[in-house]
Amino acid sequence: MNERMIRIRGARSNNLDSVDLDLPRGTLTVFAGVSGSGKSSLVFDTIAAEAGHQVNETYPPFLRNRLPKWTRPEADELAGLSPVVVIDQRRLGGNARSTVGTVTDAWTYLRLLYSRIGTPHLGESNRFSFNDPAGMCPACSGLGEAVELDTGRFLDAGRTLADGAILLPGFVDGGYWHSKYTAVEAFPADVPLREWSEDERLALLRTEEYAARIGRPPAGYEGLADWFERIYLRTADDISAHKQKAIDTFTRSGTCPECGGERLNAEARAVRVGGRTIGELALMEVAELADLIAAVEDRTVAPVVAALEERLRAMDAIGLGYLHLGRATTSLSGGESQRIKTVKHLGSSLIELLYIFDEPTVGLHPHDVEAMTGLLRRLRDKGNTVLVVEHDPAVMAVADQIVEIGPDAGAGGGRVVFQGPYADLLRADTPTAKALASRAPVPREPRRATGAVTVAHARRNNLRDLTVDVPTGVLTVLTGVAGSGKSSLAAELVDRHGAITVDQRPVGANRRSTPITYTGIAAPIRKLFAKASGLPAKYFSANSEGACPDCKGLGVVHTDLAFMDGQETVCETCGGRRFTGEALRHRVDGLTIADVDDLTITDALDRLADPAIRKGLRDLDRVGLGYLRLGQPLTTLSGGECQRVKIARELREAADPSLYVLDEPTTGLHLRDIENLLEVLDRLVDRGHTVVVIEHHLDVIRQADHLIDLGPGAGRHGGRLLYEGPVAGLRGTPTATALGHD
Ligand code: ADP
Ligand code: ADP
Ligand code: ZN
Ligand code: ZN
Repeated sequence: MNERMIRIRGARSNNLDSVDLDLPRGTLTVFAGVSGSGKSSLVFDTIAAEAGHQVNETYPPFLRNRLPKWTRPEADELAGLSPVVVIDQRRLGGNARSTVGTVTDAWTYLRLLYSRIGTPHLGESNRFSFNDPAGMCPACSGLGEAVELDTGRFLDAGRTLADGAILLPGFVDGGYWHSKYTAVEAFPADVPLREWSEDERLALLRTEEYAARIGRPPAGYEGLADWFERIYLRTADDISAHKQKAIDTFTRSGTCPECGGERLNAEARAVRVGGRTIGELALMEVAELADLIAAVEDRTVAPVVAALEERLRAMDAIGLGYLHLGRATTSLSGGESQRIKTVKHLGSSLIELLYIFDEPTVGLHPHDVEAMTGLLRRLRDKGNTVLVVEHDPAVMAVADQIVEIGPDAGAGGGRVVFQGPYADLLRADTPTAKALASRAPVPREPRRATGAVTVAHARRNNLRDLTVDVPTGVLTVLTGVAGSGKSSLAAELVDRHGAITVDQRPVGANRRSTPITYTGIAAPIRKLFAKASGLPAKYFSANSEGACPDCKGLGVVHTDLAFMDGQETVCETCGGRRFTGEALRHRVDGLTIADVDDLTITDALDRLADPAIRKGLRDLDRVGLGYLRLGQPLTTLSGGECQRVKIARELREAADPSLYVLDEPTTGLHLRDIENLLEVLDRLVDRGHTVVVIEHHLDVIRQADHLIDLGPGAGRHGGRLLYEGPVAGLRGTPTATALGHD
């Protein structure tokens, strides 16, 4: 056996057609192929799963139970694997204590630096940890945020006290609290609040503060804000549902007043290095912070400085220089999360690992893609094997070799149709090669807008008081480098104009939902069977009377084994077909209901004639999902596939002209499928809808009726409107360069 190779023989997971493949270790391989061809089945379900499984096997059973579970792939032989690190787009944990600094370990170095050379000298580095009682701010327990009263919401400044200016519960006309407060003689009860003096308003809200700053407050009375905080926020009691509702209505979460969002206690906040506190550094953009750290001259901490600087420079190099270390990871996008995870591994000194990436260019402007490919090469050059599932030709071009899976999707794919360097791929006869060859700009006359909606003075995140018009009834593409403010502007649009967001979040996390239950085709299919059999339709639903009684319609049963991995086995009663024997006795056009679930959407279009069914299937096919099986649980779909299922549903539904906002709908799409997606977007526009998409894909940008280009850089260096208008007129921006306009 050749130890320089990863050896795969007879791989058969999902649609793989007994794949044999040798991959040289220590190289960078890109897996290409149309959507649904089997790339993930080979890379994730076969290679990663087996590598993960083999590593788990080396641990004793009680530890194995705590490790991620890997389903063993179907294959004759898998050899030459190493421990695997999968870097996907799953967002980083939902924990408010995890920040860009903590997940990249940059914060650990920074703490070390402050504990060694900070003045006044404080000692141990956990005194700078906001996740440790020794360092955390006592007011917010290290979260940096505190719930604060939103006086704008509970006071109606246009009204008088007598007339119900206080909107808090218990203050409605004639209520106990209402009469108590309106009776305070010092207050001008018949004057609208907005005409009160500053002092009077302070007296109404904050008794203690009034006493400290101005003098004795009206007697027998407690400031409204003080009262609310005492009753609702500082109570030790369990919070009842009605109290929680009041809290949600009248408060907002704001910066902790004690630590100003720095998360640390007063002692830690006071320590300085080079005149700055650690909290100040946490708010600086990583790119600037790197320069500052590099200037630290104290020789005793040279190794810490070097390690920290390297980490920060790596973040900057892959287009994350605009983030700050204090940023909560829960607020990062999928693409940003993926890049953060990559940085973490660059710092690792382990070698000969197997790194697997899932579309690392997601969320990256063509301008930033080069930095990402550089990072992949550095990982390889450290002695690792890097496998990448990717559609972007720029990544294929730097790979040592390309493996194309195909030629088509589902049963029409699952084979290796090409293996070799990029230059050879360009001369090959495969769907990827053809798509690469036929890429030509398709200029088009922009459609005429029916009107416009305006977002005025947008200041969310880094937006610099932006005012833009979004034309209605056309396709608008929002462009700019990562971090320039595209999502922030889209969020403003959604908030102010109530748009329908079609994102990549999982669709109904229930394993019983399938593409056809979600898009509403399941009902007409059951009706067909009801008509043919004379039975009620519910007898053909695996979620109702039609469900196999032993597996409740899931097709599998789960067995818990005390010390070993729990196991899923195919249900013996129905053989995995999910339905009762009764349901399976009836056929339509020779197919049982289980056979129908097993059809791909494309096959079903050939087999099923019913117009209501065909219409829904066609929508799924149009968005490039023809390879999915009708009964495939939605829980098995990728983010991009989820987004396309949602688009398909929207094609059926929204009747009134609506505003749609999509975030990178080309995620996971092969060049060939992008044409279909563009047709779908055109259909939405043709029906009178307004479509706004955030996109980096040049083919989509070229098809836009209207372009909004933000930048020029990321974070502080972005947030400006560089251009709005037809694509053809764009000049002098990173997007213009990528389009070849300059
Ligand atoms: P790609 O990564 O190239 O888009 P996949 O490997 O995800 O393709 O899918 C290949 C085929 O296997 C498709 O027909 C897909 O519907 C099917 N498939 C993928 N995952 C599952 C699963 N968990 N259960 C059933 N079918 C699946
Ligand atoms: P894009 O969509 O163009 O990549 P974003 O709108 O996501 O850009 O980000 C613009 C800027 O706002 C960046 O500096 C980003 O770090 C910052 N930002 C985005 N979301 C948040 C958030 N929830 N909290 C703080 N800063 C944010
Ligand atoms: Zn605090
Ligand atoms: Zn069963």
